[in-house]
Amino acid sequence: MKRILVTGGAGFIGSHLCGKLLDMGHEVICLDNYFTGSKRNIVHLLDNPYFELIRHDVTMPLFVETDEIYNLACPASPVHYQYNGIKTIKTSVMGAINTLGLAKRTKSKVLQASTSEIYGDPEVHPQHEGYWGNVNPLGPRACYDEGKRCAETLFMNYHEQNKVRIKIARIFNTYGPKMNANDGRVVSNFIVQALKGNDITIYGDGTHTRSFQYIDDLLDGFVKLMDTPDSFIGPVNLGNPVEFTIRSLAEMVIEMTGSKSKIIYLPLPQDDPKQRKPDISLAKKELNWAPTVDLETGLARTIEYFSKTI
Ligand code: NAD
Ligand code: UDP
Repeated sequence: MKRILVTGGAGFIGSHLCGKLLDMGHEVICLDNYFTGSKRNIVHLLDNPYFELIRHDVTMPLFVETDEIYNLACPASPVHYQYNGIKTIKTSVMGAINTLGLAKRTKSKVLQASTSEIYGDPEVHPQHEGYWGNVNPLGPRACYDEGKRCAETLFMNYHEQNKVRIKIARIFNTYGPKMNANDGRVVSNFIVQALKGNDITIYGDGTHTRSFQYIDDLLDGFVKLMDTPDSFIGPVNLGNPVEFTIRSLAEMVIEMTGSKSKIIYLPLPQDDPKQRKPDISLAKKELNWAPTVDLETGLARTIEYFSKTI
């Protein structure tokens, strides 16, 4: 049994991860400041004696004893990370410094939840880990993208200078139950709009693409990455390589919900990446990992969740 800290543990991905790690027989400390997460996501775990909850902001140092750390604390949807860009940068950068300092003191292994936003609006397709990216450092997405890029740099420096055992996961668009219904991400937006009979809001003409990964696949990738030998640190892409246009996603959601909603087209936000699809050959080779849940199956589970909760 290991004692594992999950920062951002009350969020969408973090709450699923806390549940999985407890099921695997570990002790879990969930840390969150509830900016975008919610106690509702982890309330079912509170009776478990091996689960602890800490209200804390990762921009402040933390003293606990741990064996492993998953650093997930950071708002992830454009609406939420742009709400207070300065705070988003502080969370990524100071959060990384505090988490790495903790890992250094406790000799914990630490996994960083990085992102496909490292690649910005990519000119290389699909995106492989060797691509340095195309990020506008001054645009509306920069607080998130550059914060996460700096966090990767900090992880690498703590590894090289202080021998901290690190893992860097570059996560591509992930969806599933417990997404925040109001956070503006495309899967939750379209499902909620379809279930309520509201207009489905496509930004741009709907020809831009994303590749959608179901939460269970990501969690498998996380655990496999954490278990790799110390010599493997990544970065490694974790995403589903099947690419969809945003318009085809809207049509799938309308069909699967039997909704009468109509599609409307709104302006595409500045710097919105036009295409995104992970090259997962490194994850296949080093983690023996590939996603197993197709979009239709994952959407069905997510639609069922939102139809009970909204
Ligand atoms: P989320 O918003 O549901 O979860 C983030 C959690 O971090 C929330 O519970 C929030 O309250 C907490 N948090 C935010 N700032 C904090 C702070 N200063 N101190 C403590 N807690 C703080 O988002 P998510 O989708 O679960 O994303 C989790 C992580 O995965 C993020 O780091 C995100 O950047 C990364 N990621 C997610 C995706 C995705 O598609 N979901 C893709 C790439 C990367
Ligand atoms: N999007 C959309 N309608 C919405 C929400 C998002 O067309 O109601 C688009 C958005 O412009 C982007 C894609 O869907 O091109 C994915 O957006 P999301 O916010 O989920 O993630 P990210 O842009 O960070 O990949």
